[in-house]
Amino acid sequence: MKKHIVVLAGDGIGPEITDAAVEALQKVAALYGHEFEFEHCLMGLCAIKETGEPLPEETVKKCLASDSVLLGAVGGAVNDPFVASLPGNKRPEAGLLAIRKAMNLYSNIRPAKLWSALSSASPLRKDISEKGIDLVIVRELTGGIYFGERGNGTDPEYGYYAWDKEQYSVKEITRIAKIACEMAQGRRKKVTSIDKANVLDSSRLWRKIVHEVAKDYPDVTVEDMLVDNAAQQLVKDPSQFDVIVTSNIFGDILSDEAAMVTGSIGMLASSSLGDTKCGLYEPIHGSAPDIAGKDLANPIATVLAGAMMLRDSFGLFEEAKALESAVEKVLDMGYRTADIYSEGMKKVSGSEMRKLIVENIA
Ligand code: NAD
Repeated sequence: MKKHIVVLAGDGIGPEITDAAVEALQKVAALYGHEFEFEHCLMGLCAIKETGEPLPEETVKKCLASDSVLLGAVGGAVNDPFVASLPGNKRPEAGLLAIRKAMNLYSNIRPAKLWSALSSASPLRKDISEKGIDLVIVRELTGGIYFGERGNGTDPEYGYYAWDKEQYSVKEITRIAKIACEMAQGRRKKVTSIDKANVLDSSRLWRKIVHEVAKDYPDVTVEDMLVDNAAQQLVKDPSQFDVIVTSNIFGDILSDEAAMVTGSIGMLASSSLGDTKCGLYEPIHGSAPDIAGKDLANPIATVLAGAMMLRDSFGLFEEAKALESAVEKVLDMGYRTADIYSEGMKKVSGSEMRKLIVENIA
């Protein structure tokens, strides 16, 4: 198989971690007889410094013409005076929102998995974490309250006010529900749809449409859960979840909660997809300017983003498994970068971790 992959390394640790993922993908290509061609483009602070724009037009064109995009992370240090001086729409993170929009990526898929070798990293009680965590959150990404109308006014009794509108259409719910059901078919065949249907009309429509879509997937069980209950269940018994589908705002909050219960930010990847197989794959963490250039960055989340690309965009299941198995093997051998290190383990640098993963891809 021949694939053209655009790499947006971005800022901070971005180049270190994307280089690691590219090397791992090249090893997979060589072992399984594929040809992956990588093209680097600018986005984020590096793009602003070179072109004045967080997302140059050239990058958009290249991404749209690619088979998929691998992203490191964008953004400078929180107190960087240059970044602070930029207007909101010219900041590095504006590039990320703009590329998602340009590629029409309306779903965000975030697996949260507790690796058995890292079970002690979970902040949950041992009897809960021992049951395992292996879930995927499918979050609607381009609708709802984050993209709805907003405004402000003055009320005679309460004074100045501001408002934001939550709105979902049948089309938006249908397409995200389909993605969730298809994802569940390749997993444990269970979808939990999360809403606030006891209060919100938009949630009542959400619930109705999800169940209509589910009729086309008789092998998948669909259950509903209110978002307040879901927040509790994610810490009480996360093992009950397989695929979660939810709106933009609920997904934003619950996906961070799910990441937290696995205990290690440097281990989690995510993808954003639209109507085509061309997706955007990235680690969930940021550009970590505090450790950039110090060879401390854990490349695992980005390598796992590469595995998601192989599976979800290219349909290369065995190859994706080969990458994930290499990560599992290295962890089982006791190797840890500083962010996931615990006593008795073998501490390695980011580049040593990269070498170990690549050596163990078989
Ligand atoms: P961050 O995720 O970059 O870092 C949080 C902490 O986790 C830091 O201590 C960092 O050293 C550590 N960390 C993160 N990834 C790591 C890895 N792979 N290996 C080892 N340690 C790791 O979040 P932040 O510090 O809040 O943000 C830094 C910059 O990243 C900001 O400019 C922010 O806007 C940006 N950001 C970008 C994205 C993105 O590109 N998708 C996401 C989040 C934050």
